[in-house]
Amino acid sequence: MLVVMKAQATPEEIQAVCEHIEQLGFRAHPLPGAQRTAIGITGNKGEVDRGNLEALSGVAEVIRVSKAYKLASRDVKEEDTVIRFAGTDATIGGRDLAIIAGPCSIESREQAFAIAEQVAAGGAQFFRGGAYKPRTSPYAFQGLGLEALRIMAEIRERYGLRIVTEAIDSQTLELVAEWADVIQIGARNMQNFSLLKHAGRMRKPVMIKRGLSATLDEFLMAAEYVMSEGNYEVILCERGVRTFTDHTRNTLDLSIVPAVQRLSHLPILVDPSHGTGKRDSVLPMARAAVAAGADGILVEVHHQPEKALSDGPQSIYPDQFACMMGELEQIAPVVGRRLPRGIHVQAAAK
Ligand code: PEP
Ligand code: MN
Repeated sequence: MLVVMKAQATPEEIQAVCEHIEQLGFRAHPLPGAQRTAIGITGNKGEVDRGNLEALSGVAEVIRVSKAYKLASRDVKEEDTVIRFAGTDATIGGRDLAIIAGPCSIESREQAFAIAEQVAAGGAQFFRGGAYKPRTSPYAFQGLGLEALRIMAEIRERYGLRIVTEAIDSQTLELVAEWADVIQIGARNMQNFSLLKHAGRMRKPVMIKRGLSATLDEFLMAAEYVMSEGNYEVILCERGVRTFTDHTRNTLDLSIVPAVQRLSHLPILVDPSHGTGKRDSVLPMARAAVAAGADGILVEVHHQPEKALSDGPQSIYPDQFACMMGELEQIAPVVGRRLPRGIHVQAAAK
């Protein structure tokens, strides 16, 4: 169920409706929009008595939401969600494209700084790097852990770049939420429901990568898990799915971009690195992603990919990153978007 408040409803009226919903034993999710606030109701097994709610002051109407995902749906919030980063001009969602770039894994302080310097110069707003790596083999490099989180915090300090890194379980989630700006939930964890719920209790944006064989509905339900716990800052990321093709590591499913945007107000990014697994395919697919309407790109960049401890073959060189930015800058206006260059940080938020 969804309570649509009148455009002129006061914060007190919104609060009173939320309290009423909670008193009935449900959970209220106020979602402010440009025109009006909508309040999602979750936790109800059947119909909520709408007569009662409609009578409350400031309420315009009460609507039944039939989709399985509610808070992630455009039925509940019509306009696109824009995620902001306090003290900076960086956004994810909305007109400006968001660019997240960096190595697959943080391997050393020198490596991370060398790459960060280049992606900052190229105009990224976000730096990525794995501290905790979900590897197919237990013998492969598992990440530097807390040391990597500390290195990335230094990078934020030095270049202003906001930090995106993956949490692989509940334990690492707490650390990532403390040190990073965006919590990444990896493809292999997209249906780790307890981890999603835990991320929903954090107060940092959560980026969910699409599972290796996840349908659109399953992808949106993963977002719903996070939102159902009260964290509405969710970003989706298409990173390729398993198919029979063997010319790429995965098949980048760009057609999910308009499909997500039709059903959901959440931002959707595209990761052409994991999506193809091939360095030479990354730029063409990044261009295609922006042309398809993606809200931004997540890309792996390495200054010495032949020495990388993970995902070297799909990591682009810093000069290719610079080239990609130049191309995306030209494509963006064709689809009504803009590619901001770099991040501006107010002194107090550094
Ligand atoms: C990554 O971003 O390095 C990563 C492991 O991604 P995914 O979960 O999409 O495989
Ligand atoms: Mn990787």
